[in-house]
Amino acid sequence: MESGISEIKRLYPFKFRTFAVLKAPGMLSDQIRSDFPILTRQVHGKPLVYLDNAATTQKPQAVIDAIVHYYSHYNSNVHRGVHQLSQEATDAFEAVRTQLQSHVNAAHSHEVIFTKGTTDSLNLVAHGFRSVLQPGDEIIVTQLEHHSNLVPWHMLAERTGAIIRFIPMDGRGVLDQTVYESLLNPRTKVVAFNHISNALGTINPVKEMTAKAHAVGAAVVVDGAQALPHAAVDVQDLDVDFYSGSAHKMYGPTGIGLLYGKTEWLEKLPPYQGGGEMIQDVDVTSSTYAGLPHKFEAGTPNIEAVIAWGAALTWMHQVGVANIQAHEDELLAYGTALLGAIPGVKIYGTAPQKAAVLSFNVAGLHPYDVGTLLDQMGIAVRTGQHCTQPIMDGFGVPGTIRASLAAYTSKEDLDQLARALERAIALLA
Ligand code: PMP
Repeated sequence: MESGISEIKRLYPFKFRTFAVLKAPGMLSDQIRSDFPILTRQVHGKPLVYLDNAATTQKPQAVIDAIVHYYSHYNSNVHRGVHQLSQEATDAFEAVRTQLQSHVNAAHSHEVIFTKGTTDSLNLVAHGFRSVLQPGDEIIVTQLEHHSNLVPWHMLAERTGAIIRFIPMDGRGVLDQTVYESLLNPRTKVVAFNHISNALGTINPVKEMTAKAHAVGAAVVVDGAQALPHAAVDVQDLDVDFYSGSAHKMYGPTGIGLLYGKTEWLEKLPPYQGGGEMIQDVDVTSSTYAGLPHKFEAGTPNIEAVIAWGAALTWMHQVGVANIQAHEDELLAYGTALLGAIPGVKIYGTAPQKAAVLSFNVAGLHPYDVGTLLDQMGIAVRTGQHCTQPIMDGFGVPGTIRASLAAYTSKEDLDQLARALERAIALLA
């Protein structure tokens, strides 16, 4: 990490804060909220209480500044020119690959592929498996998946004649490991599951599930969109074959994401898209492909977003990923007790290992109506299926209200949510 951070500091002259302040007493959120300019705005005349972080997080000033600085000082295409601006842009761009390598502890920087986001990463892998799977091969998914870790596999199965199996969840939102073990067999070629559920917060036992998949020779594809913002991830320790994430859920910009893949798998899979920069040689009738990571990065990448993601990673590491996790765990316990004490509120997702997501409904009320009233009171929550229809079907509900937390979420935010919810219930009853 350190070399990546010092490179970013060298390239970005604006001031990064020193987080010695975190040693002071007080909540993490008190010490970092001022980094996020949007948190001072009002909504419907009320101070914004932003609790939709699983959809996307807000951005610290350092990320906003990185975008402005890039366009003001060294905007240029990467990996192309010998000129100074292109060199500077390429250095900054590649420094972020190194930062990400450290962030997930990948063995090699070429194992970090830039994509448009988690959805794009998962589609890239599923597309690649078209040339690996045979009719009758099996793909295991889970009931806890976001649609972006279901639909690409459905499309792959349709294309190859592979069969989809799934691991169900129990009433707490925990995957049934006994069913998982019974599904594994020599025909299992892919096991795809998330690290943390966006709808319920369940933390899945990635390392154990991966070992079981590897015992039958299956590849493991993990959707890490909700884990990367909240916890330290070590892909080598987990031993996963693929791991994906989105910058915008971890204080970075939209339109950029990560696919980690083990070298042997990335070499085995064919390119996802063809075009500039992903080739070695091209004549009019045929092409050969570049090595990793460029084989999977056709065309001009989202340079500003990569560079700004670097600033977001720097911010996260200065705050401390462990500090963020501890803060969110404390707030999750606080918020669970607070909401649980309101008559009629039912919380969905009660896994013993759980991240900072509070999904709930109020007896007799539609989540959309509650969410609309909360918005009028300045509270931003998500309502609906959260792109996880199989979970909602499992609970037999049309959707839930979801409050999802981040490093800057405060106890006051949750107090305001609880008060606003009580008022909404009184109004709608
Ligand atoms: N997986 C999970 C668990 C998610 O929460 C999301 C975003 N809600 C995605 C995948 C898709 O991420 P993106 O829209 O950034 O591609």
